[in-house]
Amino acid sequence: MSEEKAEYIWMDGKIVKWDDANIHVKTHALHYGTGVFEGLRGYAFNRNVHIFRLKAHLDRLYYSAKLYRMNIPYTHEEFSEAVISIVKANNIRENCYIRPIVYRGYGPLGLNPLKSPVNAAIYAIPFKEYLGEGVLENGITCLISSWERISPRALPPEAKACGNYLNSVLARLEAVEKGYTEAIMLDHRGFISEGTGENIFIIRKGEVYTPPLYASILEGVTRDSLLQLFKTELKIDVKVTDLTRSELYRADEVFICGTAGEVTPVVKIDSTVIGDGKPGEITRKIQKVYLDAVNGRNAKYIHWLTPVY
Ligand code: PMP
Repeated sequence: MSEEKAEYIWMDGKIVKWDDANIHVKTHALHYGTGVFEGLRGYAFNRNVHIFRLKAHLDRLYYSAKLYRMNIPYTHEEFSEAVISIVKANNIRENCYIRPIVYRGYGPLGLNPLKSPVNAAIYAIPFKEYLGEGVLENGITCLISSWERISPRALPPEAKACGNYLNSVLARLEAVEKGYTEAIMLDHRGFISEGTGENIFIIRKGEVYTPPLYASILEGVTRDSLLQLFKTELKIDVKVTDLTRSELYRADEVFICGTAGEVTPVVKIDSTVIGDGKPGEITRKIQKVYLDAVNGRNAKYIHWLTPVY
């Protein structure tokens, strides 16, 4: 099985062949970005695959859909089963990424989405590091983007909606074209918001900080997990507070986190080397705690994991 392909896809309640999972060009979401989605990971251990925080991800999916007046025609339970079923259908036995999407489908011309049906699909693929091989150990470089993160007066940043990601795409393009791995965006007030697909934490003099929800962030499931893990495992109360651009530059440690990126150290921002240019001690500790939790090595967090088989 190639990394970016599996055999089957779940589409509107049916399991179809990968190459048959097609949609019409008149799909509303294609033109206007009227879809909402999730990204989940499955972790392979104990001869099973375990989906990390399935309920939290589906809660966010249903919330995002509600904002855009999409009634998902499946109960939470049914959708959870569907997510599990597509991993099973493909007989995936390794670490994987799962992408459910709910979108406005084929309907009449025009912006009113209510006249287009609500469709849903889920794919699952084998998956390793999102930001490149070795980044968890060595860290990445980030650019402070010249693109501002979408403001809550324009689009709800806390919804994981397809259209929101044009903002992330521009920031990511800018970063990549300038030779950086990832971009960090400022919010509409000029405070630190987040990466294009990750939340951000900084560490200075042993204190840990992360931007608040009103800094136009997506409320990450990983961020939430880390807030809990910092408290219970490292006995550190994270300070959820506004951060300025220069607080990033003078931080001892910086890392970004997300389902795909897990806990990725940031070793350089713009031209500024962070700390001594290597992943810091607290970053490495919380990364280990997180990877232990998702891989079932800490019994306290086993309730975060839903076995597939
Ligand atoms: N911010 C953005 C913009 C994202 O796309 C993601 C990935 N879903 C995150 C943060 C991290 O969220 P999570 O930890 O739930 O994957």
